Amino acid sequence: MSELVNLYGLDRPKMEALFEQQGLQKYRGRQLMKWVYHQGRTDFAAMTDLPKSMREWLQQNTCFDLPRVETFKESKDGTCKWALDVGDNNFVESVVIPDKGRNTLCISSQIGCILDCSFCSTGKQGFSGNLSAATIVGQLILANRKLADRGEKVTNIVFMGMGEPLLNFDAAITASNIMMEDLAFGLSKRRVTISTAGVVPAIYKLAEVTDVSLAISLHAPTDELRDQLVPLNRKYPINELLAACREYVDKLGKQRKLVIEYTLIAGINDQHEHAVALAKLLHDVRCKINLIPFNPFPASGYERSTKKDIWSFQTYLMKQGYATMLRTTRGADIDAACGQLVGQVQDRTKRKTRYLARVKSADEQSAKIGQDSLYEMVSNT
Ligand code: SAH
Repeated sequence: MSELVNLYGLDRPKMEALFEQQGLQKYRGRQLMKWVYHQGRTDFAAMTDLPKSMREWLQQNTCFDLPRVETFKESKDGTCKWALDVGDNNFVESVVIPDKGRNTLCISSQIGCILDCSFCSTGKQGFSGNLSAATIVGQLILANRKLADRGEKVTNIVFMGMGEPLLNFDAAITASNIMMEDLAFGLSKRRVTISTAGVVPAIYKLAEVTDVSLAISLHAPTDELRDQLVPLNRKYPINELLAACREYVDKLGKQRKLVIEYTLIAGINDQHEHAVALAKLLHDVRCKINLIPFNPFPASGYERSTKKDIWSFQTYLMKQGYATMLRTTRGADIDAACGQLVGQVQDRTKRKTRYLARVKSADEQSAKIGQDSLYEMVSNT
């Protein structure tokens, strides 16, 4: 039996293609999208302007699947956090941060991450796979359902949850297309931001297929320092990265800016010399700078910069003419640091997995040595 097509993962061209494959006209796909995203209907029976045979085919071959919510937490300050079950004992996280009338959704694109940036807890959890476009969009649908309770919805999306979106290129682009599509969520391209640690060839490819906003996780003004914080820098050093970024923002036009993300880590990259070098480095890049105080997590080996250092760093950059935002800590009462909620869920589930793996291996050994079971042995450990 072939797998059901999850319709939440199809952008307009893909939806149109699905209908064409069934011998129908493309506009039928657009009709379906309006039902789903404008009318909020996923029951095919209600879609009376679609041919009945088509509705039956859809019923049998497609679905609207969302990730299962493993845990949901809401902070006193309105920040919401989800740990979502994406199958095979894997979990990803999404967060909504309300601020000044905006609701920014921080979305995951992969299960874990291969990049292993030294200050990021996602990297420490390893990599278990890519998310589908449907699962990326699913995070937005779940967030909007929750916000509807407050009469609100997601206004901005940043691909700054778990994973490197440009290493899951097709799914990330398809999902962002759906977010920016008038027939679906209709968010402005200024309000959907893909964040990357700097996968240079993918940034050039990005320019050919989309005009989504782009953020770069820079974190250091020199290759020497960035090599330590973002190991991907050893493959794509800063000058190559900024060249790709310049080309991308040039294509977007004069009104648009690159976002530079810079996590401030005490004594590592937060001193005056770093601010001076950063201002110099970015002098010919049309950008704004987002400063993120480091979010500590167990055994990270790093500390958050002092308030004084953060203030000095920001003030210097602003004096040099850079629009510089400081990201404030939100949702501290629900495990603020990125990736921590999933870390907790995984601790629990992986314990079960490890336990089951031990039982399985004990069973295999038991069979080999002709003993009833070694179950007793593992159940005591
Ligand atoms: N791989 C992509 C997207 C995920 S990380 C990227 O690198 O851009 C998104 C942002 O989270 C990064 O800019 C990084 O600075 C930030 N981040 C990760 N761990 C952090 C931590 N412990 N404290 C503060 N910011 C962190």
